[in-house]
Amino acid sequence: MILSIVIPCMNEEETVPLLVQRIVAATEPWADSREIILVDDGSTDRTWDVISQACESVPTLRGLRLSANRGHQVALTAGLEAARGERIFMLDADLQDPPELIGDMMAMMDRGYDVVYGRRLSRKGETLFKRATAYVFYRLLNTLSDAKIPNDTGDFRLVNRRALDAVLLMPEKSRFIRGMFSWVGFRQIGVEYVREKRVAGETKYPLRAMIRFALDAVTGFSTRPLRLATRLAFYSLAITFIMVLYAIGSMIFYQTVPGWSSMLIAISFFSGIQLLTLGIMGEYLGRLYIEAKGRPLYFTSEEVGFDTVSETKQKNQ
Ligand code: UDP
Ligand code: MG
Repeated sequence: MILSIVIPCMNEEETVPLLVQRIVAATEPWADSREIILVDDGSTDRTWDVISQACESVPTLRGLRLSANRGHQVALTAGLEAARGERIFMLDADLQDPPELIGDMMAMMDRGYDVVYGRRLSRKGETLFKRATAYVFYRLLNTLSDAKIPNDTGDFRLVNRRALDAVLLMPEKSRFIRGMFSWVGFRQIGVEYVREKRVAGETKYPLRAMIRFALDAVTGFSTRPLRLATRLAFYSLAITFIMVLYAIGSMIFYQTVPGWSSMLIAISFFSGIQLLTLGIMGEYLGRLYIEAKGRPLYFTSEEVGFDTVSETKQKNQ
């Protein structure tokens, strides 16, 4: 098996038929030695039926159905664990990432790269809000993060077996896959592309999911926010010192009890800092708790097109 293509799908009944068509055409040169793995991430529409149907007409297509919705990154992980290829190509189901780029990416890999990632030159058909938050997110993440994660890259990439096996060795439950691939190192290079509009359907990343994703990314790749608490403590000490001077000064010069305004400032300032640092600790603690529980990431409930159809299997230990 030379090439595995891994695609997570959640409520993508409209896009899957178009997707299969495009991906089959784009990977024609490897038609005999490729597999296309579609992971149904607990869809509530007809996605699984559409995948099973497609499996009947395309022999190299495989479908994997998760027992419930586990989120984009976990669905992708499920597909990556099932992949058997020497090279693994991952993309979204909505065709925002052009599958035709596989030719260029394969050529790059022939030149000795382990990871060839797509870098978005521009994003079409996405709201200004999405573009702006994505812009700020990647730059903020890079200032905070210990590993260098290239700006404006998604999970659209071609990786080889060596890089994939390295990522699959990482046991964390909060998965930020683009960061994990960047963290493992090896030889990496980007190819630029224009991010297209979704072919059909709506984004599966509402603001809530985006915030969660961003927090997973920051807490997974940086402990700097934890240290922020110490820095804030120093700032607050400095401000306290100034306030003490002010209180003593007004006692001497105005001969009154210190005014309520300084009390108010002090109380609101320090309670703000305390809540902030508590919140930061909470973010890490919550994730530690999840990791400590060590639950399996997902269960597969159905499989089609696989050589051996196994019963519900517990993956990831
Ligand atoms: N997705 C998934 N599970 C989820 C959310 C999304 O498998 O819980 C898939 C979705 O079907 C798509 C990919 O992840 O293939 C990226 O989602 P989407 O295109 O909606 O995100 P956006 O491009 O708007 O950031
Ligand atoms: Mg999309």
